[in-house]
Amino acid sequence: MVHLKTDSSIEAMREAGRVVAQVLTAARKAATAGVTLRELDEAAREVLREAGATSPFLNYKPHFAPTPFPAVICTSVNDAIVHGIPTGYRLREGDLVSIDAGAKLNGWVGDSAISFTVGPAAPEDTRLVDTAFAALDAGIAAAVVGNRIGDISHAIGTVCRGAGFGIMEDYGGHGVGRSMHEDPSVPNEGKRGRGMPLRHGMVLAIEPMLTGGGQDTYRHDQDGWTLRTTDGSRAAHAEHTVAITDDGPRILTAL
Ligand code: MG
Ligand code: MG
Repeated sequence: MVHLKTDSSIEAMREAGRVVAQVLTAARKAATAGVTLRELDEAAREVLREAGATSPFLNYKPHFAPTPFPAVICTSVNDAIVHGIPTGYRLREGDLVSIDAGAKLNGWVGDSAISFTVGPAAPEDTRLVDTAFAALDAGIAAAVVGNRIGDISHAIGTVCRGAGFGIMEDYGGHGVGRSMHEDPSVPNEGKRGRGMPLRHGMVLAIEPMLTGGGQDTYRHDQDGWTLRTTDGSRAAHAEHTVAITDDGPRILTAL
C-alpha cells in the first residue's frame, strides 16, 4: 500500500533528508587513505547525534539478514555493490567507495547514497560513478506526475545499459516515509508507461546500482550482508529520496 504524504509531511521529510546529506558529507570528508570504514561510521554517528536524529540502519534486520545491521551507514568498497558493513578495513588510494546513509527525524526517514574514489580515480571508475549519478538524474527527471513507475525505471536502465554497465538484479528503489522501505518498489530497469501512476505526495528512494563488468548477478559475503559482483568488477551506487509533486520532483536528501 502506498502512503501519500501531505505537504507538511514532505517538509518534515526534507528535514530528515537534510540530515542524511550532512551525514554523507561528513563521511565523504573523512574518507581519506588510511582511515578505517568504522571511523567513517563514527563520523556519521556524530552527525546524527548532533541533529537529534536516529538511524534506520542500525539494528535493521530484514528477513534475509543473519544478524541485525551493526552500523549507521553501509560502506561498500570496490567490488562490493551495496550493504557493506563498516569494518576495520583501511581505505587506500584508488578505492571506489559507496556510502549509503539514512536518518530518522521526528518520525520521518531519509535515505541517500553516494559513490566516489579515494584520491586519484582510474578513468573507468570515474565513468562508472558518473554513469550512476547520470542514471539517478534521469530517474529523478522522470519522477513527474503523469508518468508511471516504469518511466523512472526505463530512464535509469537506459543510461546504465547505454554505458555498457550491469544493473544489480532483484534490488532497486522503494517508497520512503515513516519507515525506510515502503511500497511501491522502483526497479532500475523497466518499460515506459507501465506500473503505478505517479501522484503528488509519493516519496520514493531512487537508487541505481551499477556493476562495472556488465553482469547483473551478485554474491553474498560470508557476513550475510555485503553484496558483491560475481566477476570482481567494481560497482557504484547513487541514491536520493525524492518527493513527487505537482511542481515537479523535489530532492529531499540534498544539503
Ligand atoms: Mg539507501
Ligand atoms: Mg534505499
